[in-house]
Amino acid sequence: MDRQQEYVLRTVEERNVRFIRLWFTDVQGQLKSVAIAPAELEGAFSEGIGFDGSAMEGFARVYESDMVLRPDPSTFQLLPWRGEVESTARMFCDVHTTDGAPAAGDPRNVLKRAMDKAGEMGFTFYIHPEIEFYLFKSSQLEGGEPIPVDHAGYFDHVPGGTANDFRRAAVNMLESMGISVEFSHHEAGPGQNEIDLRYADALTMADNVMTFKAVIKEVALAQGVYASFMPKPLAQHAGSGMHTHMSLFEGENNAFFEAGAQYQLSKTARHFIAGVLRHTPELAAVTNQFVNSYKRIWSGYEAPSYVCWGHNNRSALIRVPQYNSGKSSSSRIEYRAIDSAANPYLAYSVLLQAGLAGIEQEMELPLGAEDDVASLTRAERKILGIGSMPTSLHHALEIMESSDLVAEALGEQVFDFFLRNKHQEWDDYRSHVTPFELQMHFGTL
Ligand code: GLN
Ligand code: MG
Ligand code: MG
Ligand code: MG
Repeated sequence: MDRQQEYVLRTVEERNVRFIRLWFTDVQGQLKSVAIAPAELEGAFSEGIGFDGSAMEGFARVYESDMVLRPDPSTFQLLPWRGEVESTARMFCDVHTTDGAPAAGDPRNVLKRAMDKAGEMGFTFYIHPEIEFYLFKSSQLEGGEPIPVDHAGYFDHVPGGTANDFRRAAVNMLESMGISVEFSHHEAGPGQNEIDLRYADALTMADNVMTFKAVIKEVALAQGVYASFMPKPLAQHAGSGMHTHMSLFEGENNAFFEAGAQYQLSKTARHFIAGVLRHTPELAAVTNQFVNSYKRIWSGYEAPSYVCWGHNNRSALIRVPQYNSGKSSSSRIEYRAIDSAANPYLAYSVLLQAGLAGIEQEMELPLGAEDDVASLTRAERKILGIGSMPTSLHHALEIMESSDLVAEALGEQVFDFFLRNKHQEWDDYRSHVTPFELQMHFGTL
């Protein structure tokens, strides 16, 4: 038993923890949980806890269904919403096969592989996400559209409003779980909010994003409202993006920073951006994984429809922020396509692998975009070499299908499952006759 495991056992005893939830994530990004009693904890550390992986989306084939959860003691935290008395804690788990090998279908394992590859090249990958979501009065649709909790807009102060109290409660709860929050504010849409987390390495951050979503759902429930991370819940308002700031560190040094270079961007940063841009259409199905994701991408409201980068240009897919007083450690790039419904483990994996490919192959960075790219004509974009995001989930899947980079990043099992699962979603969608079609054609055709 190592020291972290001993710490967990001691804390469980001292804090009178009654349940320990073992958390892991399926390929779609759904959080899974199984609670064990404190008496099972030692066994969980030494041998793991078995479960039927074939019942889980994308984890295992039926003929190799037995899987084992190995809790990661460094992720031990009490769940504040379960109270102090007979409390509940959680740990994230790695999923293994019965032979002790990491399970190919475990998104956490996919990200660990990508982080190892970065490590071999001398890098650690850091993430700072801005997570947008909506607060609605209820999860029930009752035939109509979802009803937001307020009518406020970007940065609005809402006196006595639901959203202020909500953010205060959510931020306190996140911080009590060791997740630092940098900013929180009302977003552009009615009932829409944003909370930005302080940067951490990508694996810690993917765990944090999973915890974040659970916390937001709990706080909403406690306040009698409903929180949604759906990419585009309201056609007439902004969608919910999850802008992702990325940087690579070499030891203590930010590898994206070079004093005196254009925008203080090092060669490493320029190659990384070039790799991500090159592979964006292939990996879009992962960062934007639902039919609904493309309703956000193609509806304006500052969601990026075109593949380009720019310095402080909020219409660009990748923005290089204006640095605060040239602080080298904060050099980073902001990826704006990804939405709040992405599986963070898989999304960070494909973005990192794309960036690393750019570095390995010393890809040339195209010219940055200085205009509002959405207001350019098709011909102007063509001259500037600015491509488009996929127009639909189906389009994204077709591009992803022939991507060696995404196949390698996800591994064969996740890649195949993902494509099958998402083609099914598209087929289900395609079989619907929508209100749009009825409005357009029913009276006239
Ligand atoms: N909600 C916008 C999006 O979909 C982002 C708005 C912003 O944060 N500037 O990406
Ligand atoms: Mg923001
Ligand atoms: Mg925002
Ligand atoms: Mg942003």
